[in-house]
Amino acid sequence: MQYHLDTIPVWEAMEKEDCCPLCALYQKCELSEIDRSLGGSVMEPSVRIQVNERGMCQTHHKQLFMMQNRLGHALMVDSHSKELIKKLDKLDKLLPANEKRGLFSAKGGDLDPLINALDGLSNTCVICENIDQHMLRYTYTFLHLWKNDKAFLKKWDGSNGVCMPHAAMLLTHAKKHLNEKQQSAFAASLLSLLKENLVQDEKDLEWFTLKFDYRNQDKPWGNSKNALERTINRLRGRCVGDEKK
Ligand SMILES: [Zn+2]
Ligand SMILES: [Zn+2]
Repeated sequence: MQYHLDTIPVWEAMEKEDCCPLCALYQKCELSEIDRSLGGSVMEPSVRIQVNERGMCQTHHKQLFMMQNRLGHALMVDSHSKELIKKLDKLDKLLPANEKRGLFSAKGGDLDPLINALDGLSNTCVICENIDQHMLRYTYTFLHLWKNDKAFLKKWDGSNGVCMPHAAMLLTHAKKHLNEKQQSAFAASLLSLLKENLVQDEKDLEWFTLKFDYRNQDKPWGNSKNALERTINRLRGRCVGDEKK
């Protein structure tokens, strides 16, 4: 597989000094994919074919729906549905033999092929797949910079690290792109940043809960006001709170 470096967005995400630069990149890609889906590109035949073929997941339909472009969204769902109706027509052949002949046995036939086919038709998302492609490039770039750019290495060592899901993702790719010595050095720095930051998040979060005690009412919040968001986002990837601008 051919990888392309894309250093500017990765550096920008690092400069944000957010909880996780890869979550920041993910969110940026997601916003631009959502915008693009409802913009002019949806009329391009190649994009149209992809959308018709793959459809979109719940999360991305929700985001598209929130964009308040009912016509654009409806056009997409309409042509995807037309495509699906053709595919559903072909599923009759997967019905268990008894049902096809109109004979029903108490035992029932094998529904698995039909279940698998319906699953396959409803679990693809063109937006998720496009984001995954971008994230693959960013992950590769991230590791390349860590390996070759002293300034990046310094920035990483002084950063908040990454969230747990992206820690696992980076290590998965590190196996391919770093040699053994680099792998263990990178893994050690990644784990130490993860622990260090989670320990701090947890301290702040505990203080956040203690602030609800009337005896602590007048004490300062310190850095605890967004500790719940920060901790959740570190544990599971960014999903709550506002993006750091
Ligand atoms: Zn992340
Ligand atoms: Zn999706």
